Amino acid sequence: MVPTTKTFKLTKAELTAQKVLDACGLDDPTELPISEIILGRRAFYEEKPLSGKEGEIITLKGKSIITINSQIEYVSKKRFAAAHELGHFEMHKDLYPIISDTDHDLLSWFQGGPHEVEANEFASEFLMPSTLFYKECERKVFGPDLIDNLAKRFQVSKTAAILKFVKAGNHPICIVFCKGNKMKWFKPSYDFRYFLEFQRDSPPPTGSVAYELYTTKKVYSGNESKQDIWKSDWLRLNDDEQDSRFYEYCLFAKSYDYTISVIWEK
Ligand SMILES: [Zn+2]
Repeated sequence: MVPTTKTFKLTKAELTAQKVLDACGLDDPTELPISEIILGRRAFYEEKPLSGKEGEIITLKGKSIITINSQIEYVSKKRFAAAHELGHFEMHKDLYPIISDTDHDLLSWFQGGPHEVEANEFASEFLMPSTLFYKECERKVFGPDLIDNLAKRFQVSKTAAILKFVKAGNHPICIVFCKGNKMKWFKPSYDFRYFLEFQRDSPPPTGSVAYELYTTKKVYSGNESKQDIWKSDWLRLNDDEQDSRFYEYCLFAKSYDYTISVIWEK
């Protein structure tokens, strides 16, 4: 392991991911194609068209086969689906002979069944080991460009990179996940000091970029991805506190109709 002064509190699933990386002799998961890693763990790997699901693992008489939907458009998403199934292989294959995963399962981050959350935690740590991820963030200014670079560096989606940043990044941020103009969940990084006004299934606040996106279909991209907002647009002000400037980066996943708003102080 790379020596570091930063330590992370890891969940059981994340520790399992680290153990598997160690067992494969990998410091950096991008060194080998994930299909080869899976074969090295003694599971079969194949890609073929699957209807209504992104991946599955079938275990019969001690042998497991992981199948990933060949119609998944993006390499990053395919990698995430494969790492998620590998997580099921390492942690859950003795519990279920068949596990099938839809898009919904791959988005089970802070909601959803415990085994889906575990498989996603495994995948996130496996593809972006916390220590390595933190090192990649060091001495870099937070913003959409950094998320872009991290996603490319680790061959993951921007969504996956943002979620990892909350846990293992070097700057306080808070993220809010919305679907169909409704807030579903939020997650602050441990050092984010502000209180977010959140009511599940309510629309995002009217001053937010997310609200603008859902109501006017306006999507900011490129240099405009980072938008100026007021602190009070998302966050609670103390009595007598003057409003101040914050940023919001609202990532829109068009094909799934969800947004992730990243909020941080200017
Ligand atoms: Zn799953």
